[in-house]
Amino acid sequence: MITAAREAVDLLIQAASSWQFDDTLDGLRDREWMALRFLARANRFSRTPSGLAQFVGTSRATASQTVKRLEDKGYLQRRNSDQDKRSVILDVTPRGEKLLLTDPITQLVHAIAALELGAKNFRDLLRQILEQLDARRDRHHADNCRKCIFLGEATSNRASRKQPEYTCRFFRADVDASEIDLLCFNFERRESGAFPV
Ligand code: SF4
Repeated sequence: MITAAREAVDLLIQAASSWQFDDTLDGLRDREWMALRFLARANRFSRTPSGLAQFVGTSRATASQTVKRLEDKGYLQRRNSDQDKRSVILDVTPRGEKLLLTDPITQLVHAIAALELGAKNFRDLLRQILEQLDARRDRHHADNCRKCIFLGEATSNRASRKQPEYTCRFFRADVDASEIDLLCFNFERRESGAFPV
């Protein structure tokens, strides 16, 4: 069992060459690709310089330099949060979205989509691994609202037949249906499975 697990780690390390490389690709280093990719997948609460630093595993200062480079290239723009004017939200621009169509990680996405095991099963296995690592390191990985303990149904919609919308009890803010599959660093796993959305 341990041998198979060890072999799996060897293979994972080699798969990492999809997102780790020397030099640059389309003018971006691997960490800059990682940052752009994360910001395109993160919700508005995590699309911040500190969320980025946490995801890429760097200091705030290094994350700020990455943001500056991506802004200078026109791939990112910053704006003030509607809730807290002192907070900055980082948005990927249409130019950044276009660049992401050539993301070197796309080949890996296709390889996972083609797995006999099924992409959802593979995703769930990875989630289990991350949860075990989180428990050992006393940290949380970023994940989406669907399995988060803080997601609730928006009160105003309970009595209506409108398109369902949600609320985040952590941020005390509405969460649009289009946002629930985005990554969030304040995610905390709900024990009883996914919210029925
Ligand atoms: S419900 Fe959870 S994952 Fe979603 S925004 Fe709130 S804290 Fe983040």
